[in-house]
Formats: sequence, C-alpha cells, structure tokens
Amino acid sequence: MSCLEADPEVGRPEVSPSPDGTELLEGAPVALGGPRGFEVTRTLPNKHRRMVGAWCFLDAYGPHELAGSAGMRVGPHPHIGLQTVSWLVAGEILHRDSLGSLQEIRPGQLNLMTAGRGISHSEQTPAAHGEVLQGVQLWVALPGAGRDAAPSFAHHPDLPVVTGGGLSATVLMGELAGEVSPAACHTPLVGAELTLAAGGGATLPLRPDFEHAVLVLDGAATVDGASVAPGPLLYLGPGRSRLRLEAGPETRLLLIGGEPFDERIVMWWNFVGRDHDEIAAARADWEARSDGGRFGRVRGYDGPDIPAPPMPITRLVARGRTR
Ligand code: MN
Repeated sequence: MSCLEADPEVGRPEVSPSPDGTELLEGAPVALGGPRGFEVTRTLPNKHRRMVGAWCFLDAYGPHELAGSAGMRVGPHPHIGLQTVSWLVAGEILHRDSLGSLQEIRPGQLNLMTAGRGISHSEQTPAAHGEVLQGVQLWVALPGAGRDAAPSFAHHPDLPVVTGGGLSATVLMGELAGEVSPAACHTPLVGAELTLAAGGGATLPLRPDFEHAVLVLDGAATVDGASVAPGPLLYLGPGRSRLRLEAGPETRLLLIGGEPFDERIVMWWNFVGRDHDEIAAARADWEARSDGGRFGRVRGYDGPDIPAPPMPITRLVARGRTR
C-alpha cells in the first residue's frame, strides 16, 4: 500500500472530540530565544482550540538539567492585554519588570504580572541556582473592560491548599473546592496544581459552567477515565460538576479552567489585542520605547531587549476561542 493522497493534511493526526467532550491537544516544541534556545512545549494556543476559559497560552518546560547551561534567559520584551502566570515545579526564576520589580520565585509560589495597557519584563535563571528547572508559564487574556488598566506585578508566596483523600491542591488563581486564591482575576477562572500520592484517587468538585483542561507535570494519571501523561493537554468541555482523578505513580497535575471566553481576540507575538491596528500600535511603541513610554525600561538585565518581529503582510484578524 502507498499513500496516494495529494493533500498533505490527509493522514496527519487530527484532534477528534470524544463523545464526553474531551480532546487531547498535542503540544508543539518551541525554542525560546531561537534554535539553540530554551526548549518548551506549547499546548495553548492549539491549532484547534485557542483558549480554555481566559487561559490563552501554556508553555511547559523541563525538567531541564542546568549543568553547563545558562538555563532560561528571556530578555526584556513587552506585553499588553494579558496576565502572565509563572509557576515552578523545580528550580528558580528571577523576574524583572519596567515597574522596578525584582523578584525570584521558587516552587509553590506564584508570580502574576498584569500587563494592562503595557509593561515589559525579563525572566532568567539566577546566578545562584539549583541543578534542575521545571515549570510552566501561562497567559490569561484580560476582558475588554479592564484590559487598558495600569500594569501591576504581584508575588504570592502563600496560596491556599485543599487537602483530602490523598490529594493536595494549591489554588493559584480563582477558586477551587471553596478555597480562593488572593491573586487578582478579571474573569471567572481557576488554576491549581494538584498532587496525588502513588495509587491515590480523589474526586474534585468543578463548576459546570466552566470548561477545564489538565496537564500532567510529573507522573501519569487517569482523569475521568482518560489516560494522561506529560506532554499533551487534556481538554474537558463544560458541564462537569466533578472530576475523578486516579494516579499511577506519584503525580503532579496542572488544572486550568474558566467561563468560556466569548470575546474575539488577536494574539500576536507577546500581545493580546482586539484588532490589527491595536497590535501594530503596540509593536511601534515597543520599537520606539523610552523611559516615559508605556513599556518603560527593564533595569539590570545583562543582555539585549528582544526586538519585535516584522508585522505580517496581511492584516491580523480577531478570532474566537476555537477554530
Ligand atoms: Mn513575557
């Protein structure tokens, strides 16, 4: 047998929804900072599903052995219209931003940067660091009301933890099982790290008006009967009031969810906007940046700023949460 199809799309794996509304979203390998850069696996935006609630971007990385490597080095770059959510499983990252923030984070702590109308920041492995780096970075799209707000940065070292039945859940954002994160949210959503003992099982209450997704950070589990391992993102459609988790080995999971985000957005480079002209204006402001401009300056990073890529030849178009 040979493949006689001319269409290169034929035969490629497609995401096919299951009858219970789940989809397994494969991740794409991305090298931050170019081909020899720091490798991450990006599961959002996905080709078919761009958002889960207001969560619009998900990079997972590691565990990376840092011996003989510079680790993460992401130079100053701008954001608008989103929040960046940084969460570590192992290691440490040093954050600097144009508001003057200088903050190292470690596992169990949340760095939350709200870009609003504009901010710039850098992230890097600090000079004094452990041997392994593992974590996630996510973006949350800000809703139309409030996305022009002033930028801010918050470090949350103490987050609520839900425990019971072999499960421990740290609530990063929003509310889970009655525990509420102190982190600022602008749409109804949830973000939590779940840990399960080897062979452990637990049932977690969910808001049925939310859609959810689960990423395995370590270990392997079944989630409402679906087997998941590190790599892809398991999307769970709305309408679930509980989630049954069963761990194989000791397992660590990331749960994200939220009200389906109904605004159409443009995501281009590090910007979330609503139309082409808004993105083009942000790009121009970054290229012409100055101390008094909306992106300010990041002080103290020992490397160059990241230049914006050229704008595409065709106009950017706002898209919905799926396609
Ligand atoms: Mn960033």
